[in-house]
Amino acid sequence: NLNERLERSFQILKGHGKITEINIAETLKDVRRALLDADVNFKIAKSFTATVKEKALGQNVLTSLKPNQLMVKIVHDELAELMGGEHVDIETKGNPAVILIAGLQGSGKTTFSGKLANLLKTKRSMNPLLVAGDVYRPAAIDQLHVLGEQIGVPVYSDKDNKNPVKIAEVAIKEAKAKGHDLVIVDTAGRLAVDETMMKEIEAVKKAIKPSEILFVVDSMTGQDAVNTAKEFNDRLDFDGVVLTKLDGDTRGGAALSIRSVVNKPIKFVGTGEKMEALDVFHPSRMADRILGMGDIVSLVERAQEQFDADEARSLQKKIAKNQFNFNDFLSQISQIKKMGNLKDLASMIPGVGKALKNIDIDDDAFKGIEAIIYSMTPLERENPTLLNGSRRKRIAAGSGSNIQDVNRLIKQFDETRKLMKMMSKGGKMSRMMGNLG
Ligand code: GDP
Ligand code: MG
Repeated sequence: NLNERLERSFQILKGHGKITEINIAETLKDVRRALLDADVNFKIAKSFTATVKEKALGQNVLTSLKPNQLMVKIVHDELAELMGGEHVDIETKGNPAVILIAGLQGSGKTTFSGKLANLLKTKRSMNPLLVAGDVYRPAAIDQLHVLGEQIGVPVYSDKDNKNPVKIAEVAIKEAKAKGHDLVIVDTAGRLAVDETMMKEIEAVKKAIKPSEILFVVDSMTGQDAVNTAKEFNDRLDFDGVVLTKLDGDTRGGAALSIRSVVNKPIKFVGTGEKMEALDVFHPSRMADRILGMGDIVSLVERAQEQFDADEARSLQKKIAKNQFNFNDFLSQISQIKKMGNLKDLASMIPGVGKALKNIDIDDDAFKGIEAIIYSMTPLERENPTLLNGSRRKRIAAGSGSNIQDVNRLIKQFDETRKLMKMMSKGGKMSRMMGNLG
C-alpha cells in the first residue's frame, strides 16, 4: 500500500549525509510510482515530485535532520498542500441553512445525510430536518427514515410525489414553520452520470438555492471518483467533497487527486457504516494517514525547532577535526532535553512508542552523566585525553558516582567520538544523537 511504499522509498536516503540531486532521484522515482499506484493522476504525481525535489534541495541547510526525516517532512507538507492545506468548514448559516447532497448511486449519500445531521445536531446543537429526495427507490425513503429514527432527527418524505424539486420546496417550507435551522436534502443517484440525473439535480439547486452543495464520492473507486467529481462540478459547481468508505483498505489516491482536479475542498470523510463514523477532513491528518508514520512528523518538527543550524555546522567542523569534547557533549544533552520529555519523544517514534509504554524511562536519564561531566575541570572537559586514573577517582568522588560509572562514560564518549569522526567524512553528524548514553 501507499504508506509502506513511501516509507520504503525514504529508507533509501537513510545512509546519506544530505540530500543531493543524485541520491534524491531514486527516492523521488519511488514516491512517484507509489502515488501512481495509489491512483493519483499522472500529472499531479509528476508536479508533486518536482515540488518535493525543489524543496528538499533548498532545505538542506538544516543539517540536524537526517535526510530521510527531512524528506518525510517535505512530502508530508506537500501532501497536505495538495489536499488543500487548511480545513474548510461548511456553511451552516441561513434561515434555514440548506445542504444539498449529490453523487452517484451507492456512493453513500443517504448514509452521509444521516451522519451529517447527527454531527450538526450533537456537536453544534442544530435542529436539522432530513429530506428524502430519492423518488425512484421507495427503499431509499425507508432507509432515511430508519437512520432518522436512530439519531432522533425528523425526516420529511412524500411517497406520492415524484417531483424532487417540489419535495424539496415543501420540505423547506415545513422546516421554516417548525423552526428547523437546517435542512439536509438527500437526492437520488444513478449508477453512472447521465443527462436526466444532472438536469434533475440542477433543477433542485435552482429551486432551493442551497447554502452548501456537497458532492459525495466513494473513495474506493479511485480514478473514477476524480472523473465523476469533475462532471458533477462542471454542472453543479459544488462547494465541497465528501469522501466515503475511507475505512478498510482504501487507497488514498482519490483524496490526493480530487482537490487539484476540481479545486474544491474535501470537507468530510466517511469511515464506516455507523452514524458516528464521520470525520471532519483535515489535510494534515490525512497526510499523516497516508504516510502512516504515527507522529513522526511532529517529532521531526520539534527537532527542527530546537536545533540551531549554525551550531550544528560548527559542531560538525569540530567533529571532523576530532575536537569534540565534553562541553559539546553537555550541550548536545541539553539540546535533547530541550526537545521535551524523553518518554514523550520516544512515544512519537512509530513502533518504539508501544514497546516503551510500560517501561519506565527516567526523565533524568542524563543526570548521572551530567554530574560526572560537571565534576571535571574545564581543562579536562576540553581535553578528555587528560583523564588518567587519579583524575577519574577525583571526578567519581566529586560527582557522587563510582569509578565504574566514570570509566563507562569516558569509554562511551571515546567510542562516540571515534564514530562521529568516521561518520563526519560522510557528513552524518546527526547520527550522534543515537550514540549518546
Ligand atoms: P447512496 O445510494 O448514495 O444513498 O448510498 P448509501 O448511503 O445507501 O450507501 C451505500 C452503501 O455504502 C451502504 O451499504 C452503506 O452502509 C455503505 N456506506 C456508506 N458510507 C460508508 C462508509 O463511510 N464506510 C463504509 N464501510 N460503508 C459505507
Ligand atoms: Mg440513497
